Amino acid sequence: MTTTANSIDTARVELLLAELRLPGVKAIWPKLAAQSDKEGWPAARFLAALAEHEAADRTRRRIERHMTEARLPAGKTLATFDFDSVPMVSKAQVMALASGDAWLKNGANLLLFGPPGGGKSHLSAAIGLALVESGWRVLFQRTTDLVQRLQVARRELALEAALAKLDRYDLLILDDIAYVSKDQAETSVLFELIAARYERRSMLITANQPFGEWGRIFPDQAMTLAAIDRLVHHATILEMNVESYRRKAALDRKRGRGRPPAHTTPKELEKAPD
Ligand code: ADP
Ligand code: MG
Repeated sequence: MTTTANSIDTARVELLLAELRLPGVKAIWPKLAAQSDKEGWPAARFLAALAEHEAADRTRRRIERHMTEARLPAGKTLATFDFDSVPMVSKAQVMALASGDAWLKNGANLLLFGPPGGGKSHLSAAIGLALVESGWRVLFQRTTDLVQRLQVARRELALEAALAKLDRYDLLILDDIAYVSKDQAETSVLFELIAARYERRSMLITANQPFGEWGRIFPDQAMTLAAIDRLVHHATILEMNVESYRRKAALDRKRGRGRPPAHTTPKELEKAPD
């Protein structure tokens, strides 16, 4: 074996892999080829190892792209969500929802209700993150931001195209639907979005207000009812009626170790662990 022939082959392989757009294979093949030569692999095993590597690399890169496009708020994961603070929500049920499958395939919805600070945004982002990790496409949006974008599209006579573009997402997370303002409600783009996705593509919606207060979100009562009807037809509803986690955390800090002893009442001192 002449080294010249080898190095010519090497150069050709590098060029061809670049041309074929196989950066994963290009990066790994020298190492695998060396191992294959050393251990005397049959050609099929070498090829299988290369193909496996490329497939895994593509999956990883695709999930990375989906993670970027999802615009999830940072640091909100299921691991950092304290389920004990929301005893009315079943962790097992959330874990099942976070694995996707049936409900996303059927275009069913998930609605989270509860007062501000109860963990609705955190939980919806965490579910979104878990879904992206298992290969689904998700988009997280504050409802008012998305409605604003759709309003612009409508003005430019491109609402249908904008709605069709959102079809690529298996799950659309609309955070804080009740924050839609009066003038935004009048254009009814939100209703068109809900109608367009009905029974095809899933939505996860969070709301501080119960359905009874949704009259402000849509132009008239008939449309409000029609929207709610479509949303709840195939939906899981989680009520998170808990005290604000932010407030509770602040109070705990105040009561706990963080509080200077000079401000501690004798009764609290007695209860303190150390
Ligand atoms: P909401 O959207 O219901 O107003 P958020 O999800 O924004 O509430 O929660 C407020 C803050 O408290 C966030 O920083 C969130 O991460 C945190 N938080 C709320 N609930 C929990 C929980 N059960 N476990 C851990 N952090 C929580
Ligand atoms: Mg929120």
